[in-house]
Amino acid sequence: MITGGCQALHREQEQGRARRRGNLRVNLLTRPDDLSLGYYQEAFPVLRQLLLSMSRSSRIRHLVERAPVSRSVVARFVAGTGAEEAVASTRALVDKGLLASLDHLGEDTVAVEQATATRDAYLRLLQLLADAGMTRAVEVSVKLSAVGQALPGDGEKVALDNARAIAQAARAAGTTVTLDMEDHTTTDSTLGILRELRQDFPDTGAVLQAYLHRTEADCRDLAHAGSRVRLCKGAYKEPESVAFQGRHDVDGAYVRALNVLMAGDGYPMIATHDPRLVSITEELARRTGRAKDSYEFQMLYGIRPHEQERLAAQGQRMRVYVPYGDEWYGYLVRRMAERPANLAFFLRAVATKG
Ligand SMILES: Cc1cc2nc3c(=O)[nH]c(=O)nc-3n(C[C@H](O)[C@H](O)[C@H](O)COP(=O)(O)OP(=O)(O)OC[C@H]3O[C@@H](n4cnc5c(N)ncnc54)[C@H](O)[C@@H]3O)c2cc1C
Repeated sequence: MITGGCQALHREQEQGRARRRGNLRVNLLTRPDDLSLGYYQEAFPVLRQLLLSMSRSSRIRHLVERAPVSRSVVARFVAGTGAEEAVASTRALVDKGLLASLDHLGEDTVAVEQATATRDAYLRLLQLLADAGMTRAVEVSVKLSAVGQALPGDGEKVALDNARAIAQAARAAGTTVTLDMEDHTTTDSTLGILRELRQDFPDTGAVLQAYLHRTEADCRDLAHAGSRVRLCKGAYKEPESVAFQGRHDVDGAYVRALNVLMAGDGYPMIATHDPRLVSITEELARRTGRAKDSYEFQMLYGIRPHEQERLAAQGQRMRVYVPYGDEWYGYLVRRMAERPANLAFFLRAVATKG
């Protein structure tokens, strides 16, 4: 039976999810190669809406989570529900010469207890990674919203305290933390918390999103010695007032930001599956005389795995972003809503029973 307090928390969680859902465009996974997201949204609005409502339905969630086919489908994009499974999946990547950054999947944090639980999940994960002797190759990625940033009142302080505890544990384990970047309303707050954290943990990684108009300037600020900066295109639905909208404009902005980071003194982390951007990075590294250990590529777990291995085999540092956790349902269904190819993969798995 659900108690009154739990019902209120559940209601708040639903409201929080609904607010954030409206703002989400392509949370983490890629747009299709042959079909732009804009085209897909215009051509298949009903399908997309259906999938997005599926991501909110606890009844369908219950069914999908128990379907015999689910595990194999989930396993393509999510490295397990528990930390042990995630560490085992990550071990397989590390054995192939890849690096990794683990992300504990969560939905909206609307109570301080959830933020504390997320912090504790990271502390446990870091201990497991240290015990497995993997922290030279594996770091963690943290969303500040998951550790309390959006809580009313002193949310930023809660998030900073939790992020500090995670950074401390990462240091003790021999690794680092990168702060994921979320929608533009959080950018100043996230960069502010990054600055605070870097006073004690200068190796804390930042993320900048090429689609934001401000990013080239942020790159200049952050391209200093010792500064680890992940550059991605950006995954949220943002207004024209703050972000480039078209694919070509975003790609152009990515190249400008990349130029700044590669010419600077920091450690650029090039997070993209885009083959053109990978080639441009290699060319810029040649031109600027950057050694292969002075920057790295990053891609998502399950996306272009052969390219990940190819780059690693060429001596490039290649880090895989590895999400795990039992909140995979919403993550997975949103991946399908974003990319028809992911849905086809799911349906094929259902048809062939995995
Ligand atoms: C490691 C990592 C961390 C990230 N962290 C954040 C973050 O903190 N905040 C945030 O807002 N966003 C983050 N993102 C998401 C990012 O912003 C983009 O939404 C996402 O990576 C898609 O952009 P893309 O650069 O891969 O290019 P896209 O425009 O999606 O794809 C470009 C090209 O890549 C190729 N490609 C893409 N997918 C495939 C595929 N499955 N198979 C074959 N080719 C493919 C195709 O040639 C395609 O045309 C992260 C992405 C990565 C990889």
